[in-house]
Amino acid sequence: MRRLLLLGLCLLPLTAQKKWSDEEVMAVHRSALLIDGHNDVTSRTVRGWDIASEKDARHTSIGKLRAGGTGAQFFAAYVSVNFIDSGGSARRALEMIDTIRHDIVARHPDHFVLATTAAEIEAARRAGRIAALIGIEGGHAIENEPRLLRAFYDLGVRYMTLTHTRNLDWAGSSAEKEERGLNGLGRRIIAEMNRLGMMVDVAHVSDRTFWDVLEASRAPVFSSHSSARALSNIPRNLSDDQIRAIAKKGGLIMINLGCEFISQRSADTSPWINPSLPKNARCEQATLEEVVAHFEHIRRIAGVDFIGLGSDFDGVSCTPKGLEDVSKWPNLTRALLERGFSPDDIRKIYGGNFLRFMRAVEQAAR
Ligand SMILES: [Zn+2]
Repeated sequence: MRRLLLLGLCLLPLTAQKKWSDEEVMAVHRSALLIDGHNDVTSRTVRGWDIASEKDARHTSIGKLRAGGTGAQFFAAYVSVNFIDSGGSARRALEMIDTIRHDIVARHPDHFVLATTAAEIEAARRAGRIAALIGIEGGHAIENEPRLLRAFYDLGVRYMTLTHTRNLDWAGSSAEKEERGLNGLGRRIIAEMNRLGMMVDVAHVSDRTFWDVLEASRAPVFSSHSSARALSNIPRNLSDDQIRAIAKKGGLIMINLGCEFISQRSADTSPWINPSLPKNARCEQATLEEVVAHFEHIRRIAGVDFIGLGSDFDGVSCTPKGLEDVSKWPNLTRALLERGFSPDDIRKIYGGNFLRFMRAVEQAAR
């Protein structure tokens, strides 16, 4: 009997997961400083839509950000690759930076404050505001001129996603057949980003460019919105070797919530991934369990210190069931707790890891 009881006690932690009440989940959620690496609502605000409005809101609004407990949000200064042909990439980047600085931050000072350092992210939280940060998406924004990096840095830009969907003169994109690496100009651009303290974002780059960047960068690098290729095999996700290499350098993988990034089922049924499917085909929606699997995978192969959040809200068409928009982050907290992530793990994943990474980039710049 005694032996049976002991056996029962030993099995208890394996069989009976702790049940978390809503209050306990929200207490853990609020204890974390939630930093999201990528949001594309800027493509709407630049056309005049007000982020304070719930009318026509998609994944992001002030109300939804507040409900979901976002502490800091990187907004994408996204520049379409179409500007490579037409000219005007730098001008477009300036318009996108302006919609963040003016339409989002200056128009809503009770809710947002522009942040450019890890310390300013923490100060924003103490002031009860959401830290708004700027990341350029698409290195064509600098029009092959490394000097523009300094100009953009002075406007508050703190990361640049090196490529979007087209090869540049100096770096290759994951969306192109011809795999291009970094050339001499590309290495000069990385060196200048390191010198300034602008974070190097490898989301969207080709595998060859990825490995060249890992070698060229003095500072740790990160992906602002990519998930694990082992779970959804698309070029935009990272292989296990790439994830380990980012971790070894002290960087970070901020997980993209787009259904195709999360679930192989979604990728296989998505017209975006499979152009032969009819354009109006709907991809299968990913689940919260499939999202959590990416956190578990990266924790297993690299460690909990190298995971972050990079939703891509308002930049993807399909979002997972239970994580439909920025108001739903607490559902992820519950799912992670139920899968055995500790409150400390969650505080690292949501913001602690990013702050460590950002400080390391700031340090390397000095
Ligand atoms: Zn993107």
